[in-house]
Amino acid sequence: MSSPEALAATVLQNVGWNGSLPINPKAIAECYGIAVKSEVSLMGGTNSGRGFKLGDGKVMIIVNPADSKARQNFTIAHELGHAFLHGCGIHDRSTDRVEVYKQKEAQANAFAAALLMPESPVRNAVELGKNLPELAELFQVSQTAMYVRLNHLGILS
Ligand SMILES: [Zn+2]
Repeated sequence: MSSPEALAATVLQNVGWNGSLPINPKAIAECYGIAVKSEVSLMGGTNSGRGFKLGDGKVMIIVNPADSKARQNFTIAHELGHAFLHGCGIHDRSTDRVEVYKQKEAQANAFAAALLMPESPVRNAVELGKNLPELAELFQVSQTAMYVRLNHLGILS
């Protein structure tokens, strides 16, 4: 299996990403035939807004409309990570052992970060002197997600 980072780069290439920001994970999901719905009624009683469901054989990602745009983007990208990295995208907490669950979560988060914040535009923006809030705005992610990404890329030390 390729790394989450490499896979995210491949996905961006496959959808013909032209370098424009922010990256739109909903449009990417739709390129792969995965619908993204933003409806509380579909969330099955949870409020996490991260549901990834199969209905009539169709995969869809469900986000919480009450979440910020940045949070919704990360949720969509995270669930896409499960879809691409873990097969069908069914995220079964009940059967996975805790360690397996945690590993899949970490992989999905790494994929999401790499998809929404590709290394080269992040480095370019940092070199232009953008600060954390500006970077978060540019990539439409939370400041926390951006901070984690900068750390991961070794930009913060
Ligand atoms: Zn997950």
